[in-house]
Amino acid sequence: MPTMTSPFHLTRRSLLAGAAASSALVILHPFSVRAAANQAHLRIMETTDLHVHVFPYDYYGDKPNDTVGLARTASIIDAIRAEATNSILVDNGDFLQGNPMGDYIAYQRGMKDGDIHPVIAAMNVLGYDCGTLGNHEFNYGLDFMFKVLNGANFPLVCANLTKGALAANGRQDELFLKPYVLLDRKVKDGSGTEHPIRIGLIGFVPPQIMTWDAKNLEGKANARDIVKAAEAWVPQMREEGADIVVALSHSGIGQQSYAENLENASVPLAAIAGIDAIVTGHSHLDFPGPKFDGIAGLDNTKGLISGKPGVMGGFWGSHLGLIDLLIEREGGAWRVVNSTSEARPIYRREEKKVIAEVTDKPEVLAAAKKDHEATLTYVRTPVGKTSAPLYSYFALVADDPSVQIVSQAQTWYIKDMLKETEYRDLPVLSAAAPFKAGGRGGADYYTDVPAGDIAIKNVADLYLYPNTVQAVVITGDQVRNWLEMSAGIFNEVKPGATDAPLINGGFPSYNFDVIDGVTYQIDLSEPPKFDKDGNVISPSSNRIKNLQFNGKAIDPAQKFVVATNNYRAGGGGNFPDIAADKVVFVAPDTNRDVVVRYIIDQGTINPSADANWTFVPLANTSVTFDSGPKARQFLAQVKGVAIEDAGDAAEGFARFRIKL
Ligand code: MN
Ligand code: MG
Repeated sequence: MPTMTSPFHLTRRSLLAGAAASSALVILHPFSVRAAANQAHLRIMETTDLHVHVFPYDYYGDKPNDTVGLARTASIIDAIRAEATNSILVDNGDFLQGNPMGDYIAYQRGMKDGDIHPVIAAMNVLGYDCGTLGNHEFNYGLDFMFKVLNGANFPLVCANLTKGALAANGRQDELFLKPYVLLDRKVKDGSGTEHPIRIGLIGFVPPQIMTWDAKNLEGKANARDIVKAAEAWVPQMREEGADIVVALSHSGIGQQSYAENLENASVPLAAIAGIDAIVTGHSHLDFPGPKFDGIAGLDNTKGLISGKPGVMGGFWGSHLGLIDLLIEREGGAWRVVNSTSEARPIYRREEKKVIAEVTDKPEVLAAAKKDHEATLTYVRTPVGKTSAPLYSYFALVADDPSVQIVSQAQTWYIKDMLKETEYRDLPVLSAAAPFKAGGRGGADYYTDVPAGDIAIKNVADLYLYPNTVQAVVITGDQVRNWLEMSAGIFNEVKPGATDAPLINGGFPSYNFDVIDGVTYQIDLSEPPKFDKDGNVISPSSNRIKNLQFNGKAIDPAQKFVVATNNYRAGGGGNFPDIAADKVVFVAPDTNRDVVVRYIIDQGTINPSADANWTFVPLANTSVTFDSGPKARQFLAQVKGVAIEDAGDAAEGFARFRIKL
């Protein structure tokens, strides 16, 4: 089995310690201060889910962002190395896809033999000891991935990615990468004496890659259950003399009990005998941290997962995950006697402001600078065309092109993802809401992309949040209640009223889901059926009229797939019946990525709204609503409703009138 021999970064670390000492006081970790003569402090530093974030830059917004970037994380790596006598640095996967720089390399620049991917170039500066694969490494295909991996100056391991079919048992699997490495290093003990240590590092990827990237992997690869793969290989690492075994788990911290092919398997994985510590990721959270209070199998104060030291280091470079081990030498072997864990951030929030805690490491920026600059050009350059303008000025009063295009992309994606599942014959509907719709954001806070060329940076304007796609299966009746809940954004309107205010300003626009794939009308003369928390307040109310699927009244019992996002599917907005138990598909992809792929796939998109929803006509009744003054130029284009200009409104808004 592979054995890597090299010293710790001693020279480098002492240099850095010196450099750090001259600018800021280095506070040694207590284990480094207190280790006895037979003890040593070993620090494991983790980056995870970098998703190509090297520069602290938001390419969609085309502006700097202090919450992301390996250049920032790297500058705390230097200081953090200096706090510990012995340390290793690992990456936990999902590095090569997930922002426009990743798409630029894959779709535009390409990877010729010998090319170095910018994220790898940046990582190569930092002295990584090992890395593992995340599920997103497969998004651009195996050939692309291996060209990228070839450029790394550190080993990559994955114990559950097989060539072709699985063998009878894990140890016989033919793997693409080494399942683990054994690093022969020296650790300095509490008295300053160096001793040899063999550190084993083993990596795992969620087996769900076989669904998420079926088009890239089918017939070429397979993925073994994470826990089963660990049970196969960890004993062998011990047989080969590993003193300490660290699992690089590109898998979240989920349920405690084992089940076959768990996506988030880190808790049962950590429980396996022979694993001493576990770095986790995939779910883009920080552990220990407030999101993990009260979860079975965890000690969220000490940072233990199934009783073993563990960490999850955020995402996009937001944190460096740290596990500090106090190890003790007994009869020539090392064992862990104490630990602390921490996810250390690169920024903090004060009020609503983001304050950077660190500056950039120039060598990391330099390594990716050329590709960063090319990416800026890429996001500003057209990748497709839109045959109609994309604006959200009327998104709350009519079917709308900015919402329509998101629904089209979600439907396109979910149909493909479910085509080989038991849900393949169910009709696919799609729910999407306007995110930029004035309100507290002000009179300019609208999506407004003209017809013609469309660039990647425009997609941020279409999908503001980094949500991920999910799909639920619900009945026709539940589709109706979903829409009843959405319709809560409208005030009740008395028939015959003149210029009644239409919009309830307390109802957020992101909870105004429009469902595409069905047609319906909204009757404003009835009161909302649900309050904003999803409680029934008017049981007899039925604002949704003529709800039809395929031109016929919807069957209340018929099942539908509805494409949506993780926020809604997880219960966000308290929509009736919509919660995790309805979820049938959890996508690894963001809705934004899906919109980008849809545009690239289609070349020219046609976002014209199909007016699948309208208001029920009410005789002699008019309502008013406010929108941005730029809305005036699109008045004539709005389908399904007649809108007239009603003059100016407060705070720079324009007022419009609808005769119902
Ligand atoms: Mn990820
Ligand atoms: Mg529509």
